[in-house]
Amino acid sequence: MQAVRLTGQGMAKQAYIGLGSNLQDPENQIRRALLTMQGLPGVELLKSSSLYQSQPMGPSEQPDFVNAVAKVSTVLDPTGLLTVLQRIEHLHQRVRKPQRWGPRTLDLDILLYEDLEIDTKRLRIPHPGMSEREFVLIPLQEIEKDLIIPGQGSLSEMIEKLPCYRLKKIATPHVGP
Ligand code: AMP
Repeated sequence: MQAVRLTGQGMAKQAYIGLGSNLQDPENQIRRALLTMQGLPGVELLKSSSLYQSQPMGPSEQPDFVNAVAKVSTVLDPTGLLTVLQRIEHLHQRVRKPQRWGPRTLDLDILLYEDLEIDTKRLRIPHPGMSEREFVLIPLQEIEKDLIIPGQGSLSEMIEKLPCYRLKKIATPHVGP
């Protein structure tokens, strides 16, 4: 496996990952991805949320999604973490298509990395759009109640501002809080 980048002093950092799938047995895709994350060198899976069913954001003629959020501790820097997450997506045979918000076997996003705000060509943290996505905010609150989103405010305030609530809990956590 190719080397990935480590944080400065090898100090473990905390990050939150959003998981989503709506193809080829989505629930199983998410469970398998969590298991893979558990076995990643340089990454420790600390908690994962319940699995939730959500309606697709983009084109509606596609299956519902299954979503979850995981909290990890990692010695990888944000770019290194993105690289290993993209390898997992690849293992799940995700083929990148130009269609925005199209169907996918597995989508892994870095939602937060410590209290960093990053805006580069390859990586934006906090993940753009997370403040409007109930399938991110609700599972995030399940595993971390009092989070502050850097540059945006408290997680509970963001949840209060959500226009509606259509998320359905379909399974209990893989790794309990
Ligand atoms: P998508 O899979 O459609 O969510 O988009 C993947 C692309 O988003 C990748 O090429 C990443 O470089 C980029 N990206 C930017 N910020 C993030 C982030 N916080 N987490 C994951 N991918 C990101």
